[in-house]
Amino acid sequence: MEALTQCWFTRVHRPERERRRQSDGSVASTCRYCHRQLVSWDRENWSLSDGLNVSRLAETTNGRTLTLIDMVEDLIVRRISIRHLETEAEVDAFKAELATQYGLNEPGSTLVLRDSAPPARKRKSRPDPEPESPATDAI
Ligand SMILES: [Zn+2]
Repeated sequence: MEALTQCWFTRVHRPERERRRQSDGSVASTCRYCHRQLVSWDRENWSLSDGLNVSRLAETTNGRTLTLIDMVEDLIVRRISIRHLETEAEVDAFKAELATQYGLNEPGSTLVLRDSAPPARKRKSRPDPEPESPATDAI
């Protein structure tokens, strides 16, 4: 019997140095402890990609995707292409629909939804710099 790996206890998998960038924006690697396939979208949170051919899936779902991940089981539950959605409002509405469908906001839910698109940068709400005084002021 294999010794239990560190990540078995901590549920935090550490990727090997070697990482493969996938065409969908995710990064694939192998856990240095349990040697299972990992996938990450932000290079910080790594999930097991067991039971999922990530490369193949990336081919069939080019473009932006939403991925439903079970944080307790550490497994990808579902991946949904949303390239047909054109506006952020549509994406938000779709996310809300999924949240309802999968009970994401219910207490005790272990599912999270990850968006393959980088988070929208918050625009700094600093006012525009004062425009240069028009020359007409100088008499
Ligand atoms: Zn591991």
